[in-house]
Amino acid sequence: MAAASLNKNNSAVKRIMQEAKELANDPSTDYSAAPLEDDIFEWHCTLRGPAGTDFEGGLFHFRILLPAEYPFRPPSIMMLTPNGRFELNTKICISFTNYHEELWQPAWGVRTAIIGLQGFFPLKGQNAVGVGSIEYPSGERKRLAALSREWVCPHCKESNLDILPDPPAAVNLSSSSAAPPPNSALAAAAPPPIDTPPKETLPTDSPTEPPIDAPHEPVETMHSIDTLVPSGSPGSVGPLPPRPAPFIARAGAETPIAGIVQEARQQTQRKTSLLLVDGAICVLLVLAFAILCRKIV
Ligand SMILES: [Zn+2]
Repeated sequence: MAAASLNKNNSAVKRIMQEAKELANDPSTDYSAAPLEDDIFEWHCTLRGPAGTDFEGGLFHFRILLPAEYPFRPPSIMMLTPNGRFELNTKICISFTNYHEELWQPAWGVRTAIIGLQGFFPLKGQNAVGVGSIEYPSGERKRLAALSREWVCPHCKESNLDILPDPPAAVNLSSSSAAPPPNSALAAAAPPPIDTPPKETLPTDSPTEPPIDAPHEPVETMHSIDTLVPSGSPGSVGPLPPRPAPFIARAGAETPIAGIVQEARQQTQRKTSLLLVDGAICVLLVLAFAILCRKIV
């Protein structure tokens, strides 16, 4: 494993590094996972107990072991934090682990496994039966969930709460005020290991990079526009705001923008000078009219 993890041309290593990068770039408030520094094939993950269940408020740490043939063979999961749902230090039997190899799909990834495990927490009765499953009473599970937050992984040497802090209050409010999340999470979580192909795993780098580039161009053109547009005159604040929109829309053509901006600037200058000219013309017309009237009289 150690030798394989050093070989960056190894397809499994490449894939795992890609997943690690994707998870780091797009973190979740529900779980935190990363490969060990000395073995990329072993990950440690802290997972939040599903809301609306005995495990709510709990934080559970577990190992994810990836085979050398990953992603063509599934990962194994071994729970480390006492939880009352899964045995400790035992490979858990769920459809995406090596107990059900035939159900694993290479398009799935570590994130799929974590989300799937979260969905397995609340299962009860016949659905919960399997290797590594245990069914503690509700009260005991709640007690373990409360204790789990301060549980420290001997390897990571950090408590679960340090690894996965509670999300900000605003997020808590929104998630608790919306009662459906736990139910919908359960509903969505139960089938995923078998049916839902993980949409999140594959689009890792390619979608993240282009969007970063794309907004850059408009932003830059915006800056250049800002510098071009006269900023001093407070009187012109009214007409200014609507301008950026058409500029952004036409960001593709750069030369017309400069022309438009210049024209706009000239127009504001013209408007003020035109007012003066208009006034002068009015005065002259009145004078001319008065002279004509006097001549006629
Ligand atoms: Zn750990």
